[in-house]
Amino acid sequence: MAIKEQPKQPRFRIIANILLAVSGLFLLLNLFLPGLFASGPAGVPYSLFIHQVQEGEVSRVSVGQNQILYQIKTENAEPGQVFTTTPIFDLELPKLLEQKGVEFAATPPPKNTWFTTLLSWVIPPLIFIGIWQFFIARGGGGPQGALSIGKSKAKVYVEGESAKITFADVAGVEEAKTELVEIVDFLKTPARFTQIGARIPKGVLLVGPPGTGKTLLAKAVAGEAGVPFFSISGSEFVELFVGVGSSRVRDLFEQAKKQAPCIVFIDELDAIGKSRSSNGFYGGNDEREQTLNQLLTEMDGFAAGDATVIVLAATNRPEILDPALLRPGRFDRQVLVDRPDLSGREAILKIHAQKVKLGDDVDLKAIATRTPGFAGADLANLVNEAALLAARNHRQGVAQEDFAEAIERVVAGLEKKSRVMNETEKKIVAYHEVGHAMVGSLTTGNGRVEKISIIPRGMAALGYTLQLPTEDRFLMNETELRGQIATLLGGRSAEEVVFNSITTGASNDLQRATDLAERMVTTYGMSKVLGPLAYQQGQQAMFLGNGASNPRRAVSEDTAKAIDSEVKEIVETAHEQALEILRQNRDLLEAIATQLLETEVIEGEKLHSLLSQVKPVTNS
Ligand code: ADP
Ligand code: MG
Ligand code: ZN
Repeated sequence: MAIKEQPKQPRFRIIANILLAVSGLFLLLNLFLPGLFASGPAGVPYSLFIHQVQEGEVSRVSVGQNQILYQIKTENAEPGQVFTTTPIFDLELPKLLEQKGVEFAATPPPKNTWFTTLLSWVIPPLIFIGIWQFFIARGGGGPQGALSIGKSKAKVYVEGESAKITFADVAGVEEAKTELVEIVDFLKTPARFTQIGARIPKGVLLVGPPGTGKTLLAKAVAGEAGVPFFSISGSEFVELFVGVGSSRVRDLFEQAKKQAPCIVFIDELDAIGKSRSSNGFYGGNDEREQTLNQLLTEMDGFAAGDATVIVLAATNRPEILDPALLRPGRFDRQVLVDRPDLSGREAILKIHAQKVKLGDDVDLKAIATRTPGFAGADLANLVNEAALLAARNHRQGVAQEDFAEAIERVVAGLEKKSRVMNETEKKIVAYHEVGHAMVGSLTTGNGRVEKISIIPRGMAALGYTLQLPTEDRFLMNETELRGQIATLLGGRSAEEVVFNSITTGASNDLQRATDLAERMVTTYGMSKVLGPLAYQQGQQAMFLGNGASNPRRAVSEDTAKAIDSEVKEIVETAHEQALEILRQNRDLLEAIATQLLETEVIEGEKLHSLLSQVKPVTNS
């Protein structure tokens, strides 16, 4: 990472390492020293010692806990020679020694004992302290959290001269960049905005799948504006002790305000910001709720004119966030950070390829073409994998061949996480989306088709067709609704026409088509058979009983059957209509799908001119 972390406590790190080394040494000594001492004088079996005592050969004895040292009368041994034996728990020994007139004492050899005592009392705490310091010096992890309860663990990144991250380090997310440029302006010259009374936004939510560069963008905003960057992850807030999360939030904002203007970045906002109501009847997670409340309080706290602190947050699940977070004055801005398209991927590859030596044959565009669905992080990983392979093959630079192999590896990894489509799937999705677009262009009530894409988007959809209404519509007639249903079925119909089989990819389309048809019959009174009656009670789900699963008003069995058959009729008619459109425009379907497979996205004028060639159905 190109950002420099502010050195935490460098002295601690050195002291910790010294302590660790010293305590390690002591530990070793502790283990071996007694052994060293014991091996000094000649060892004698205890039985022989007793025998010698009984024979009256022993002159002096020193009884220690682990060792008995003794001397023998000079006529039997060298003068001053010390023998040693290992004692057995023997209460008779003093009596025996006294009987034999041996001079004895219980003083253990002093040199040995004070030292071992010292070792056993002093070393363990030293080791403990050493390890402790080591963790602290390592920064954040380890036991520190448990001690300094409530202290924010926010890492402060300060832009360093050499290692500044800027927008130039981020590619393929142009819309997001455009929106964030504004935030940079707020941070750089807040006065310009506050002078005319404009309220500077407090919170910006970056929404997108993992690895698309949300963290990177947040750092780039700080880098561009030249302000400090506080970062903390939502999951770090919620841990260990109740009440810690909220005091961490308070602490974090306190620190931030001192350094304003600055950026506070909260990663994984969903970890604290889960909707409070989604906990159902069982009450919430109190800790998380307190943390969330504290966050809301802090965000409301710094008013206009105050220090400029802008909170950036990232999530890949915006739909589960508590609505309170998204209110004006909080995270009222949302920036979509989506997976890059073909040209975006090429640009990202270019950025990361600068860090490695490239061979002459490398074609980044070709690599980008082969990596649909890859997020920025996957591409960064790909470049690194390729470089590793090149090094393993003893090459001077990374070759196209290495990239080809690396793609296979990365794809294999990603496929486990089911985020990358294989070629066949990609083809099916392409025809599917073109099907939606072509049917949608002929039927009314849909708005204009503005974009088709086969880049997986968000978590669920494999591809998508974007339709924008040409004007605000409040009323829809029956034809328009039927047109919408046909468009929803267009994807599945294309699969049927082209592949003569259907996949599971259309389930959401079918659900929406069926819902719409059902509303036509039961709410809008558009069925001739059932007449202008409302068979559906309000939209809200019922809480009690099993009404929730069937919110219709109580109807007779006959009416229920009639509703079902009417809904079915509407859907099937729309299906036929979609199939007919696609069959009669089969060549165009092929042409557009082939092009979509190539470029992955078709939009704007180009798309309009292609879709204008769709011929209306002729009944021949
Ligand atoms: P996120 O926070 O969205 O999960 P990150 O910002 O942590 O993703 O991305 C991880 C790494 O992947 C980045 O440090 C960078 O090297 C690379 N990366 C991701 N997106 C991009 C991008 N759009 N442009 C360049 N590099 C990217
Ligand atoms: Mg991230
Ligand atoms: Zn679809």
